[in-house]
Amino acid sequence: PMSLSDPVKPHRICVCVRKRPLNKKELAKKEIDVVTIPGNGALLLHEPKQKVDLTKYLENQTFHFDYSFDEDATNDLVYRFTAKPLVKTIFEGGMATCFAYGQTGSGKTHTMGGDFSGKSQNSSKGIYALAAQDVFTLLRQKRYADMDLCPYVTFFEIYNGKVFDLLNKKAKLRVLEDEKQQVNVVGLQEVPVSSVDDVIKMIERGSACRTSGQTFANASSSRSHAVLQVILRRRNFLHGKFSLVDLAGNERGTDVSNNDRHTIVETAEINRSLLALKECIRSLGQNSEHIPFRMSKLTQVLRDSFIGENSRTCMIAMISPGMSSCEYTLNTLRYANRVK
Ligand code: ADP
Ligand code: MG
Repeated sequence: PMSLSDPVKPHRICVCVRKRPLNKKELAKKEIDVVTIPGNGALLLHEPKQKVDLTKYLENQTFHFDYSFDEDATNDLVYRFTAKPLVKTIFEGGMATCFAYGQTGSGKTHTMGGDFSGKSQNSSKGIYALAAQDVFTLLRQKRYADMDLCPYVTFFEIYNGKVFDLLNKKAKLRVLEDEKQQVNVVGLQEVPVSSVDDVIKMIERGSACRTSGQTFANASSSRSHAVLQVILRRRNFLHGKFSLVDLAGNERGTDVSNNDRHTIVETAEINRSLLALKECIRSLGQNSEHIPFRMSKLTQVLRDSFIGENSRTCMIAMISPGMSSCEYTLNTLRYANRVK
């Protein structure tokens, strides 16, 4: 397993997986853990050790990632190897992006720190807040303190190809592209922040806004992408931007039978954006001239993340350990495997 003393590798694109523990419900159902993290970035998806009468067995499959985190890994540990190395990027005038990918219930929001149900998690312990802490630490460091950098936060949601401002009552926003291909989300609130507490307030406000409303809106929070950005401006010009993205659940990618029309359209949009994301990150990795960012609203809005020599990206693929999730888990692992 990973430990705090392991070295952090300098990646431009980092892809890793995080396995969550079996939860109480799964334990009560005697769900079997089919994921083992043997160490060194490897992950083994295997048949249950116990003999069970199930027809759909998996062949044992091993995957390799930059890092693999097992169920004992804390958010602190995950942060240290994933988003933390990217914080410096935005001070050096680059774009940093961190994605949480995986099926609903696999731990994306838990990892990012956008879960305010109050019980197991609070705002100060996820990647959002940990990154904010490091941003303010660096802002106070001598070499950056003289640079006149001002931090701002935006928080928005992309649902069904439309952008909604989570810091402004879910106002629907238009996305415009100018002749220089610069993408602008018109009217997006960019809130100035002067402390980690300020950022946490915005995370709480936005997260509450994300899940508020009628049942439909609640359900849709797992069907939307949430993007929190920490932006550094220097004399009003964009200097660097850190985008932290809690992606829509990828679980319905395989199952389009017996869904209503609305769900099918929604699913097609999610599939399109996740496919576009994979293509864009791959283009970044290959230093390609052509970035297919117009393939989806998500990648269009994140266009800056995929260009420039100084851009760095990290994807954390979350997986549930249970036998009953293994088809989704396999999908997630295959996707993550192809991003790099
Ligand atoms: P997602 O955002 O991917 O749908 P959540 O982050 O909401 O999933 O996680 C689902 C549930 O599992 C939550 O109750 C969360 O607290 C719990 N959980 C997720 N990951 C972990 C973890 N690594 N350790 C402990 N509990 C976790
Ligand atoms: Mg979530």
